[in-house]
Amino acid sequence: MDDSEQLEEIRKQIAEKTRIIAEVFCQRTLLASKIASIKAKSNLPIDDYHVEKNLAKQVREICTKYGLDPAKGLRLLNLLISESIASQKSAYKPLLTPITIFEEGKRLEQLGLKVIHLEVGEPDFGPPQRVIEGIIKALKEGRTHYTSKYGLPELRRALADKMSERWGASIKPNEIVVTPGGRAALHLALSAILKQGDSAIIIEPAWPAYRKCVESLGCRARVVHTKLEDKWELDVNEIEELIDETTKIIILNSPSNPTGKALDRKTIAAIIEIAAKHNITILSDEAYVEFSYKDRCSLLAEDCEKIVIGTFSKAWGMTGFRLGYIITSSGLCTTIAELAGELYTCVPEPIQWAGVAALECFDEVDRYVAEMKRRRDLATSLLKPLPIEFTEPDGAFYIFFKLNGGLRGEEFVEQMLEKHQVALTPGSGFGNYPQFVRLSFCGPEEELREGVARMREMF
Ligand code: PMP
Repeated sequence: MDDSEQLEEIRKQIAEKTRIIAEVFCQRTLLASKIASIKAKSNLPIDDYHVEKNLAKQVREICTKYGLDPAKGLRLLNLLISESIASQKSAYKPLLTPITIFEEGKRLEQLGLKVIHLEVGEPDFGPPQRVIEGIIKALKEGRTHYTSKYGLPELRRALADKMSERWGASIKPNEIVVTPGGRAALHLALSAILKQGDSAIIIEPAWPAYRKCVESLGCRARVVHTKLEDKWELDVNEIEELIDETTKIIILNSPSNPTGKALDRKTIAAIIEIAAKHNITILSDEAYVEFSYKDRCSLLAEDCEKIVIGTFSKAWGMTGFRLGYIITSSGLCTTIAELAGELYTCVPEPIQWAGVAALECFDEVDRYVAEMKRRRDLATSLLKPLPIEFTEPDGAFYIFFKLNGGLRGEEFVEQMLEKHQVALTPGSGFGNYPQFVRLSFCGPEEELREGVARMREMF
């Protein structure tokens, strides 16, 4: 057979294999949609990693038989599973996330109703006065131009200096990318690390953006499900069980939204060890790190493969400024900055100058944190007499409580909003926690008192 005949023959074989794959793929998808209706009826979670693990075993064996890298087969398996999960999701009601509830609350306000916002994570204190002065000065001085896609050199330098000082680290400006908020930082960091078919580990209950972002990149979110009964304690062995050749990242959020749980140093050290053993990066979302009412820990102080994301939204009360940052190795910063430049060119220059001013205001941050700790104590004492269960948060500004008597979070939240005009967030947005509700105590004290009083009426 000459080369062109051989080429023709191989092409025929490839076409036949592709036909077989397409046929089997359709059959698999139909089976998955049958499973979806059974699971939705019995309220079972869509994904079950133990089932997946058996499938992975088969794929690994087949790859080995053909001398192919098992990671390739496993990434294809992840894509197949993602596909069937996407088709199964249509059988479930869309999730009520903090944003959906916030939008609904705003709609009621447009109708003239007064809504108490205990759903949104937006501190009522505005930015420090020096931040306002900083942005006005920047505008007056005509600092209204494009900046580097990495961010303003002055802001990167200030971040490097202040964060090094605060955490006992030695961060360099070229290890920082400035972003339009923590959410964008998360998306950029994950986009730089993950490719289709990879997997990421998430500790639930978790901020919904983690799962959404991982899945939007065509990757699998593997979940460690922590429990209130264990005081939201994390068993690091469960992380290790979820790791395979496709796992690229472990996402941590300490203190956590929604539980307020902070990881202790021992747990952090154990996670670092596992990550190093499997060559996996840790992404540490430190949006609430300043709001630590016990021990304050940052991955910035640790010598490991990491991406730390931060935001000015919470500790400086700058939600509407949309300013955040990523701190990681300089190599990864280059990849991230490339993506950032393509996506939005740069963060608006006056906003970045506001960030420079904010970094001069840690005294204000400390004051805000002390006030938030007082509200944590108040919220805990107000909620204690209600027929709910929760642990006192170590940090952040949320209480994630379980309704007694089998009450469902979504129904409770819907009724609280419709009948009592109090906005809360159902636990289902944070993972498989249908009986839970998240209350945010970062708003004014009167609203917290009034909101809890209306909850009491509801019970
Ligand atoms: N991380 C966590 C855990 C959050 O809860 C939030 C906001 N709710 C963010 C990051 C991002 O905040 P922002 O985009 O306002 O910076």
